[in-house]
Amino acid sequence: MKVVYQFGGGEADGSAADKQLLGGKGANLAEMTRLGLPVPPGFTITTEACNHYFASDHTWPEGMEEQVRTGVARVEADTGKRFGGTEKPLLFSVRSGAPVSMPGMMDTVLNLGLNDETVEALALRSGRPRFAWDSYRRFLQMFGDVVLQIHSSRFARACRELFAEREAQELDVDELKLLCVAYKRVIDGAVGSFPADPWKQLYAAIDAVFRSFNTQRARYYRRTHGIPEDCGTGVNVQAMVFGNMGDTSATGVAFTRDPSSGAPIFFGEWLPNAQGEDVVAGTHTPQPLNNHRDPDSTETLERSMPQVYEALVQVQERLESHYRDMQDIEFTVEDGDLFLLQTRNGKRTPAAAVQIAVDMVEEGIISEDDALGRIEPSLLEMVLRPVLDPKAQRKVIGKGLPASPGAASGRVVFHSEEAQELHDRGEQVILVRLETSPEDIQGMTVSEGILTSRGVQTSHAAVVARGMGKPCVVGATDIAVDYGRQLFYAGDTVIRRGDWITLDGSTGEIMEGNVPTLPPATDSGAMSRLLAWADDRARLQVRANADTGRDAQRARELGAVGIGLCRTEHMFFQPVALRAMRQLILAEDKRSRQRALSQVLPIQRQDFAAIFRAMNGLPVTVRLLDPPLHEFLPAAPEDISQVADDLGVRPERLRERLEQLHESNPMMGHRGCRLGITSPEIYATQVRALMEAAVEVSREGVVVLPEIMVPLVAMSEELESMRKVIVDTAELVLGELHERIDYRVGTMIELPRACLTADRVAEHADFFSFGTNDLTQMAWGFSRDDMSKFFNDYMHHGLLRTSPLATFDVEGVGQLVETAVRLGRKTRPMLKVGICGEHGGEPVGIGFFHKAGLDYVSCSPFRVPVARLAAAHAALGLI
Ligand code: PEP
Ligand code: MG
Repeated sequence: MKVVYQFGGGEADGSAADKQLLGGKGANLAEMTRLGLPVPPGFTITTEACNHYFASDHTWPEGMEEQVRTGVARVEADTGKRFGGTEKPLLFSVRSGAPVSMPGMMDTVLNLGLNDETVEALALRSGRPRFAWDSYRRFLQMFGDVVLQIHSSRFARACRELFAEREAQELDVDELKLLCVAYKRVIDGAVGSFPADPWKQLYAAIDAVFRSFNTQRARYYRRTHGIPEDCGTGVNVQAMVFGNMGDTSATGVAFTRDPSSGAPIFFGEWLPNAQGEDVVAGTHTPQPLNNHRDPDSTETLERSMPQVYEALVQVQERLESHYRDMQDIEFTVEDGDLFLLQTRNGKRTPAAAVQIAVDMVEEGIISEDDALGRIEPSLLEMVLRPVLDPKAQRKVIGKGLPASPGAASGRVVFHSEEAQELHDRGEQVILVRLETSPEDIQGMTVSEGILTSRGVQTSHAAVVARGMGKPCVVGATDIAVDYGRQLFYAGDTVIRRGDWITLDGSTGEIMEGNVPTLPPATDSGAMSRLLAWADDRARLQVRANADTGRDAQRARELGAVGIGLCRTEHMFFQPVALRAMRQLILAEDKRSRQRALSQVLPIQRQDFAAIFRAMNGLPVTVRLLDPPLHEFLPAAPEDISQVADDLGVRPERLRERLEQLHESNPMMGHRGCRLGITSPEIYATQVRALMEAAVEVSREGVVVLPEIMVPLVAMSEELESMRKVIVDTAELVLGELHERIDYRVGTMIELPRACLTADRVAEHADFFSFGTNDLTQMAWGFSRDDMSKFFNDYMHHGLLRTSPLATFDVEGVGQLVETAVRLGRKTRPMLKVGICGEHGGEPVGIGFFHKAGLDYVSCSPFRVPVARLAAAHAALGLI
């Protein structure tokens, strides 16, 4: 089996097409070599070798050692240097690279091949002893940590013991020599002896990179990003080039476009006289490459090394047009010569992703279909992130670099575990760190936002937060984090663990307290263009679930072409309405129910009118009352007394009534049309309110298209009976008001029995709308209220990857939907069918509903753009 793929001298065994086999980094190194770009020579060990390593008890595939030796020999020939040589020593970097980028998850070893002899040779050849010994101490530290698994704090302690507070960067050559001796002593103490033989170092480093694929943090990252467990990692063994060889050397990262906004601006950071790890770790503060974003900086690469900068500009243009996507490039300058160490499609904020895709269509680089295909639909929800309310009081206590946009508030925590703990208790948290590392991923995942006092836009915290679509502020040097005392200082202010702060990831501002945010404005440019292309391709229409005029207005702005679900019970959350609703539920006879209803009527009429106005000319589907009773009734003793007082009854009497109404399983209880059957006057009142509102607004010139929907129907007889109540009332009202308004009557399909008898149900329905929340609950036989208690374990045990309430269960519930569509249309071939459960805004569900022949999906307003793009993806066969 061929497991070593060579690259160097303009030739490569692999190419960009070999991502699965060589990993992203390896495939792109091969491709850049073929393009004739300056890539240090080397070879990539395949992901197959990695998989073999784990499948065969940590052993290499047969012949791999020999192939590695041949690989090394070819690099020696290419460079004229010798691995382990004491004249012109060849050093290697050994770096991981999986098929899917897992930033910072896996390990790297630099300067491999150094020992007491080769370091002298390097010093002599380069004429820079300090550089050679600095490289050696870096190698000992990195090899010790990554390969020999000696905790990095032991090296830090050894350094402190010798040089107190001074950092390695400040030491002279003799001091560095002492430090190397101390580091070797740390290694000898921990593992017996330091392997001076470069071959032993190389083999051990390859093993370590393989192993790093399977660490807990890497597995967690894969799980949370849906990356397959068996993709393996490639190992890239590449001749070292040195960015730390003095003032004519440097290292840096560059993005061909701004990864925050997507603007077509060449953007990046560099550090003179440094190695790549210094930039990525965020431990040094790099300089901008140019003045595009930072007009005042005088230390740009453009000014300091104009020729290198010019070469880099040409390379980045070449790479972007070759890959037809924004690139994230790592480079090193060794004594004035530019080398490329990596290119990949750059991570970007959701807003930047949209901007770049749309710009590239306009620049003629990609097609509209390409642009649509490049954006994962769920990303669009993040483009529309909350912003700070401009009118809100805010006390800015510090400022850092804006690393990922959006505003977030939460309680301060300083450690990943604490973040998880508080999150589990239902709290919003902001993770505050000096800088983050891959160990913090879990904490970052559950935080609302991330703040670090160190680092820059290309540091770990920034890159990961951007990928997660979370607000992030980095490099906030004016805050002082004290982990020990669990607090940070920002000027005069002390913020302790558990205090609220607010971050604005678009400006970098850090504010005290919980500053109110506003829902984000509709995108005016790139996103609406992208969505217009999406609408051209989509067959499914997208409606919204909205219960107020304001939500309906927002939904319309986001492109909804109707309301697919107005949950009328949600109109009762304000105090006056809630009181009326409670009276209604608690009423024991027709008279008191009628009294409560007379209070409900004007409230509902007003709300319906607002929605009709917002949706002028578009259909509005109103669902008749489906109250899970327990959500509206008091439970705690003090609440019971208060409600009794409020309703003018004795608390004992109220308690008795609550006892009567108590249900063991309210989700399967007296709700939906069951309520309409037992108290038809409730539905009649709602229909009256709806039709009166419709007449009122149509007299204002608004075009109303009401659709009245009956919930939780199990059998056709229920719908037949409810339809009669609805039609009788609607006709009565229209007769009284001498108006004619067309309306439709339909049903939710949310019980398995309704699906199985949909041909009969359809006899009384002008439309169906799947309530997949209940349908999923009823098909699985769990209660939506309780399932999280045991479903987490299902995920933990790997039985399920996501909850069927979040991602549509195509295999099971899908069959019920297909059956209902087929039977329903057997009775009424033109039956209009939609879905208004949560799955209406979720790409897996939308892909399925497209195939099942539905007419529309309906989802919460903020997910309308997601659904529009997913509907296009479905039409393009991408989901
Ligand atoms: C549903 O069941 O999918 C639905 C939309 O109704 P609700 O969530 O209000 O029960
Ligand atoms: Mg329901």
